Amino acid sequence: MRLATLRVDGGSTAVRVEGAHGVDLGVPDVGAVLARDDWRTWAESVRGRKIPLPDPDDGGGVTYAPPVLRPSKILCVGLNYASHILEMGRELPTHPTLFAKFADSLTGPYDDIVVPAAGSEAVDWEAELAVVIGAEVRGASREEARAAIAGYTVMNDVSMRDWQNRTVEWLQGKAWEAATPLGPVVVTADEAGGDGLEIGADVDGEQVQHSTTADLVFPPDVLVSYVSTFTTLRPGDVIATGTPGGVGHARTPRRYLTDGSVVTAWVDGVGATRNRVVVRP
Ligand code: ZN
Repeated sequence: MRLATLRVDGGSTAVRVEGAHGVDLGVPDVGAVLARDDWRTWAESVRGRKIPLPDPDDGGGVTYAPPVLRPSKILCVGLNYASHILEMGRELPTHPTLFAKFADSLTGPYDDIVVPAAGSEAVDWEAELAVVIGAEVRGASREEARAAIAGYTVMNDVSMRDWQNRTVEWLQGKAWEAATPLGPVVVTADEAGGDGLEIGADVDGEQVQHSTTADLVFPPDVLVSYVSTFTTLRPGDVIATGTPGGVGHARTPRRYLTDGSVVTAWVDGVGATRNRVVVRP
């Protein structure tokens, strides 16, 4: 099953994707779907009005919002792809590097990423597989963690490298408002395929990242279990699992997104975000 949140009629609504339509579930977002104990059987069976799915190139009318509008937690993993860590000359970590974003950091999967002209001059891309939580868990085993994963979506962990690297804490380069595309759909875990999903990013049509989630040092169930040791994860919470090699900051010469750049982040079988960068005076 694929679930999305559409901006429609001046508000938003969650839909179950059926072909070229979304079936209106009558709640404001996928987070509200996942808050139900019976979300899976409920979302599979609701009969609502059919809303034509938006054409991302159209730009007007109905558009995709982030699937979960206000997650209570958004956690992100730093270095997590083995080949990328090793190519950077580092040793494989024994614990995940974690940082957080805010709900306000999120933006829709096809929205423009608006950067103030006086802001960052080092806007970078990070294609990531994101886990969406479907049940409240604390102290979960790996098996319990797997059962608590509702599904997967795509995040572009857009990072302002100049701000990120001002201090040892990355937060100020990672939590810019409306600069982290998420979506367009949550694909339930049973439908998302196995451990080896291809993942990548394109900038202006040129492939800049390409790897497989089989290379993750800390796979989704391990991350959910680990995080749940220190805090409760709730339905709709998001954990972004890290990005493979090929980011602009690690290139020689360095390469960043500028006004008009179009960046696509994709995970095979899950979806793709595609966003234009707009530098606004
Ligand atoms: Zn990241």
